[in-house]
Amino acid sequence: MTPPLSDDELDRYARHIVLKEFGGAGQTRLKAARVAIVGAGGIGSPAIQYLAAAGVGHLRLIDDDRVEPSNLQRQTIFVSDDAGTAKVEAAAAAARRINPHVAVEPVAVRIDPANAATLLAGVDVVLDGCDNFATRFAVADAAFAAHIPLVSAAVGQFEGQLGVYRGWEPVLPCYRCFVGETPERAETSCAEDGVLGPVTGILGSLAALEVMRAIAPFGDEAAGKLLLVDLLALRFRTLRLPKDPGCAGCGS
Ligand SMILES: [Zn+2]
Repeated sequence: MTPPLSDDELDRYARHIVLKEFGGAGQTRLKAARVAIVGAGGIGSPAIQYLAAAGVGHLRLIDDDRVEPSNLQRQTIFVSDDAGTAKVEAAAAAARRINPHVAVEPVAVRIDPANAATLLAGVDVVLDGCDNFATRFAVADAAFAAHIPLVSAAVGQFEGQLGVYRGWEPVLPCYRCFVGETPERAETSCAEDGVLGPVTGILGSLAALEVMRAIAPFGDEAAGKLLLVDLLALRFRTLRLPKDPGCAGCGS
């Protein structure tokens, strides 16, 4: 049982509690929730900041990288002196500074198909903001198998995409319905191709919002849609993402 919100928490979360679509009931659900964030990078930084500030009760941060000077242009949870520190340790310290009501669990491990089920055990939502397809598939497959809603965000240069996946449900797609057996596009990386800092901030913030919606539903259903963000054109588009009957992940 999650204890009721304290006076300090009622003050802190007053701007959530006054929202009729969210309210005290939503805030209490956030407090009771456990969220895994895979990748404490450009997407993870704002997501961790917003989810800690918002009062998610337990955050598990999974990343095996260390902070590098070239991360600091976009990974806003880190400060210059964090260079060389394990990302999950620096991010956990920052999250605790933002909100002492949040339990933060840093896990400095690279997630892979062999350990993903264990690393994601017991969480209510997974946010994947990692930077490579091997990890994305490992996370998506483990989340699918355990029926954990997956919020997946990705960025490159001036664009991004966001999806929410609960592919075990009859009409909703899984991550593999979207990407297929093997990604059509060649793997891109921020290191080689670059990315404008605020692009990661926008997609990471949207991912945090979808984690909150998955925990305490408000507004429209997000699963089954794909948001495409083109910031060269300042254009947001939402496509319907159907379930693929022949999908290797969720098909029959
Ligand atoms: Zn599928």
